[in-house]
Amino acid sequence: MHLTMFTVLQKFSRSLTFKIFSICFVSTHVPLLALVAYLFTGFRSDALPVLLLVLAATLIGTAFCLACVWALIRPLHEVAGVVEAYRSSGVVKTVRSKRKDEVGIVSNGVSVLITELDATLAQLRRQATTDVLTGLGNRRWLKDIGALEIARAARERTPLSVVVFDLDHFKSINDEFGHDVGDQVLMMAGATIQHNLRPYDIAARIGGEEFCLVLPRTDVDAAVNIANRLRLQLETKAVGPLPAKRVTASFGVYHGDPTSETLKSMLMAADRELYAAKNGGRNAVRSTVARSIMDARIRA
Ligand code: GH3
Ligand code: MG
Ligand code: MG
Repeated sequence: MHLTMFTVLQKFSRSLTFKIFSICFVSTHVPLLALVAYLFTGFRSDALPVLLLVLAATLIGTAFCLACVWALIRPLHEVAGVVEAYRSSGVVKTVRSKRKDEVGIVSNGVSVLITELDATLAQLRRQATTDVLTGLGNRRWLKDIGALEIARAARERTPLSVVVFDLDHFKSINDEFGHDVGDQVLMMAGATIQHNLRPYDIAARIGGEEFCLVLPRTDVDAAVNIANRLRLQLETKAVGPLPAKRVTASFGVYHGDPTSETLKSMLMAADRELYAAKNGGRNAVRSTVARSIMDARIRA
């Protein structure tokens, strides 16, 4: 008996249809119950008091029905707010309903799905902008973030330098020691870059063994110092079976003019310096400054 009652209550708590049916049943029977109670208590059966009683009972039944329906669908209002907040501003809010019926399941489900969707999108965004091997940003990320930094430097009238560097004779490391060792060298280079940069510097892997730094608030001398520090550190790193000083890199540094140049033109200028460093014997840093900045220095 207890078990049957328990099962019925459990079914009731899980069934929206059952709850709606109960609410409708009770609210539509309020006038009838009131009328029966009125007649049984021996009051007069004149038309007017009966009519007033039925009217009042109908109003009470309607109010009861409205309140119950409102309570029943309240989690759906909250979940609609959650969906709207995420759609309009990307804010993740959560709803936790203790209800076991369909409204509770939908409310909790939508809330969990939005949280999971947001985490997955964040992960996809990270993957789309990160180089898997080195953990640095990739070329696409550099294009977006670099442009923002250049715009900021132009606005704030602060210097900005870009550094492009390329590992020397990397193909022969792959050929002599294998692709896995080559990959280890790239990972080491990524870690070395990350350890050496300031929090606001930008680093990306822009090709097979080619990297780029965008250094805000940095003039040519500071950028050359950073490049040389990196160059010396790469040289001293031990990677698997490689002999000492086997990993070296050539650097091109360009102090650009953010008010008149784009990231693309700055990278091209830094690239020219990089190839000068390669042609000059590799494991070296070459640098130059934008003509407009040089002219301004001469005028000052
Ligand atoms: P240089 O000093 O002139 O730059 O010579 P280099 O050998 O470094 O340059 P080259 O362009 O001839 O060779 C680059 C090599 O980098 C060829 C390519 O197989 C290798 N490479 C590109 N991406 C990866 C990668 O993800 N992992 C490994 N292990 N090798 C890569
Ligand atoms: Mg190379
Ligand atoms: Mg290269």
